[in-house]
Amino acid sequence: MSELPKIPFLDLSAHHAPFREEFMDAFGMVMDSSAFAGGQFVSEFEARFAEFCGTRHAIGLSSGTDAIWLALLALGIGPGDEVITAPMTFIATVEAILRTGARPVFVDIDPATYTMSPSGLEKAITEHTKAIMPVHLFGRLADMKGIGAIANKYNLPVVEDAAQAHGASDGNTMAGAFGIAGAFSFYPGKNLGAFGDAGAMTTNDAEIASFARMVRDHGQSQKYIHSVSGWNCRMDGIQAAILSLKLSRLAAGNGRRAEHAEFYSARLQGIPDILLPAGGKACSNVHHIYAIRSGRRSELLKHFESHGIGYGIHYPVPAHLQPCCGFLGGVVGDFPVSETCAREFVSLPMYPEMTGAQRERVVQVLLGFSEAMAA
Ligand SMILES: *Cc1c(COP(=O)(O)O)cnc(C)c1O
Repeated sequence: MSELPKIPFLDLSAHHAPFREEFMDAFGMVMDSSAFAGGQFVSEFEARFAEFCGTRHAIGLSSGTDAIWLALLALGIGPGDEVITAPMTFIATVEAILRTGARPVFVDIDPATYTMSPSGLEKAITEHTKAIMPVHLFGRLADMKGIGAIANKYNLPVVEDAAQAHGASDGNTMAGAFGIAGAFSFYPGKNLGAFGDAGAMTTNDAEIASFARMVRDHGQSQKYIHSVSGWNCRMDGIQAAILSLKLSRLAAGNGRRAEHAEFYSARLQGIPDILLPAGGKACSNVHHIYAIRSGRRSELLKHFESHGIGYGIHYPVPAHLQPCCGFLGGVVGDFPVSETCAREFVSLPMYPEMTGAQRERVVQVLLGFSEAMAA
């Protein structure tokens, strides 16, 4: 087997090592000020992140899952309501809908972009529909024009699951600024990642913002006056201080990801039986994940394993076929594009610090696989 060093799917140590001193200073600042839960570091990060997204408000929260849930809750969504989303997503999208008591309704993804297909959206709208939640899957903006047009026609709010799309833009509008609200995750492996769990909700709506600020802090309007039934989902001061530091480097990291994606797409072009992600406007995709498709995935994964290439599968089971969604009655065949992708997706190593030699090796191993299959 290979003697060459392994290439990880993701390398957070390489991401953090150059800035160790700054991170240690940030820990010290938070410790010295004791602003651990909420507080000045959180407000500072919120101001920076809102400016970055071009929204009036950003509310720091404990996770992306809470950000989605709070956005839906702020819209008054609850039992008896329906929220439309895509089945090819991380389960949190669907969990957050379920947690409000509403019913997730799925619309299949587009086979080229892997995001919600506007053409299937209109058919899914019923009198119970209360919101549409596209997912900017893998860092690529969903078709916000197409989805927005249908949302406007039916007067429905759009909530963006932007957990994988920090910094994606159509040239005018940033992810998180298209809908009535946007939900971001700062889980460590995301393009902007904390040192633990964290998330944020973005919005231009002052009422939604103040509702979210209240609910994240036990529904308090003033100390020990609980105006609404709330929850505890504040952002930690330590996470906010780290995120402020890392936000200033997000554009550079996204730029490196774009270079890697371009390299993969150029070098893997034309390999039989390997489907590459569709191109698009550069900034509309921040390449959280670079997923190829293979009809011989199990062989490919074995090949990767024996050559020390890390990989991911995002995601092997679409939401409508997850056991936790069984009560919704989804069956195989409901959403064929998502189901095919779930069988074929393989995510290649992708992180800003990946070197030229590392990505070259990923390509060489894939070319070797294709030769072995042809032999
Ligand atoms: C990561 C992720 C979430 C959940 O975010 P957490 O911070 O882990 O709660 C939601 N939706 C998508 C698409 C994600 O990738």
